[in-house]
Amino acid sequence: MNKYYNLALSRANLPHLTVAQRVVDKIVANALLYETETGEALVGLTVKVPARSEPDIYVLDTISPLADTTVREGAYFEQGDDTQGDIFNWWADNWERFRERRRASYGSAIGAKWDVPLANLGDWHKHPGTLTTPSSGDFETAYEHIFDDQKGIPQLLVVLATVWDRTMAELDLSADPDEVVGEQADKYGLKPHPLKIPISGGKVVRIDFWYMSRHTRRFVKLKPIVTEDSLMPNMPVIGWHIVDYQRFGEELNRLSDDGYSILRAQAHNADDVPPLEFCVQVFRMTGKYILTIVTAADYPNSCPKLRYTPIDVIKEIPDGGKPFLPVWNKSQPVPDTCYPDWQWSPEHHLSELVKAVEAKLTPGAVAAVSAKKGETV
Ligand SMILES: [Zn+2]
Repeated sequence: MNKYYNLALSRANLPHLTVAQRVVDKIVANALLYETETGEALVGLTVKVPARSEPDIYVLDTISPLADTTVREGAYFEQGDDTQGDIFNWWADNWERFRERRRASYGSAIGAKWDVPLANLGDWHKHPGTLTTPSSGDFETAYEHIFDDQKGIPQLLVVLATVWDRTMAELDLSADPDEVVGEQADKYGLKPHPLKIPISGGKVVRIDFWYMSRHTRRFVKLKPIVTEDSLMPNMPVIGWHIVDYQRFGEELNRLSDDGYSILRAQAHNADDVPPLEFCVQVFRMTGKYILTIVTAADYPNSCPKLRYTPIDVIKEIPDGGKPFLPVWNKSQPVPDTCYPDWQWSPEHHLSELVKAVEAKLTPGAVAAVSAKKGETV
C-alpha cells in the first residue's frame, strides 16, 4: 500500500497550519542536539472551521521528554509519573484560567478566536539522512492514535527534521522517492512545502510538516505559516515544582526535618492572575495554625506569601476528604508584621520562612491586625 497518495484529497479541505516562530527555533536548535527518533511533543490549539472537515491548527510550543530523566520523589503531591505530562497539564490548567479571564474582559468574538482547550497536537522528531517522509512505524503509530477513541485525538501532526549539507538541500527536488511534484501534486496535498533553515557550518535544517486525521487516513503534507511569537498566545512559565524537582524534594525534606507535617501540596489559583501558584500546607502537631505557603511559579526568585488557618478546621474534614480547599477557604493572610526581618533571597528555603513567621504569629499579633481592620471599616 502506498501510504501517501492512495486517495485524492483536495488541498482546500486541509487544515491551515500556523506555527509560532519559537517552535521553529526550538526544532532547529534541538535537531542538532537530539539523536534520531527523539523529539518533542507539540502543544497548541485546533480550531473548528465552518464548512471544512479539518480544523485550523496553531502550534504554540513544544515539550521535551528529556525532563523525564529528573529524579521524582515526594508523597504529598499527586503528579503523573511523567514530567512531559505534568508540563502539559500545567499549561492546560493555566490556559483554562486565561480563557475565563479573556471571556470576562471581551465577551465578544475578539476574545473567542482561541477559546478552545489546549491540545496535544502530535510530535516532531529527527530523521536520519535525507528521510523526509514518515516511516512505516510513524504511520502505524499515528493511525492507531487517531482511531483510538479512549486515548487518541482525531488528528495528528508528525513533523520531521532532517539536517542537510546546504548544496544538497538546494538540489533537493527529487529527494523524496515517493514524491509527486508539480501542480497535480499540490492539488492533492503532496507537494513538498518544507521549511529550510540555514545554520552555521554550511548546514541546513529542513522541517517537513505531515498530517493525518480520521478523514485523510494517511499522511498529507501541510504548508505551514510561520508567525511572529507576539501574534500568538504564549505559554506561561512552568511551575518550579515541575521543572526543579530536586529543589521541590529538598524543600519538603527540610520542612519535615524541622518538625512540620505536610498536609497537602498542589497548584492553586491563589491570586486570580495566571500562572497558577503552587501551595504547600504545613502544620505542627502542637501548633495553633495550619500555614499555607503560596509560591509563585518562578519560586525561589520571589518571597512566598503565607496564610494561616486555625488548626481546628481539620476536625471538619471528613475521613479521606480532600483537605486543601477547606483549609484554604478558612485562611487569612499572615499580617505583614509577622514576616521575618531579613530580606528574602533564592538561597533561603520555605522552612526558614515558616519558622520565622510562626515565631511572630501569636494570637496577640493576629488580634492586633483584626482590631485595626475593625476600626477602618
Ligand atoms: Zn519517524
